[in-house]
Amino acid sequence: MVESCSAVNCCNRRRIDVKMKFHRIPTDPNMRKLWLHAIRRKNFTPSTTTVICEKHFTPEDYEPISRKNIAIEGF
Ligand SMILES: [Zn+2]
Repeated sequence: MVESCSAVNCCNRRRIDVKMKFHRIPTDPNMRKLWLHAIRRKNFTPSTTTVICEKHFTPEDYEPISRKNIAIEGF
């Protein structure tokens, strides 16, 4: 099955030749609500295969793993 972005006005699809990240809608209810608001689709119920492409995220949206590791070492 071809995964394609579920955001409004976006038709990016997962392709082998293009390196693009796709993210599943979070299962956490609060995060899920934020994501659904952000993709601006009305009457939309995401399935377990619903994905959003990296185009809708900024670098700040990604949790830096290295910083997390440093914080853990600080304890
Ligand atoms: Zn997209």
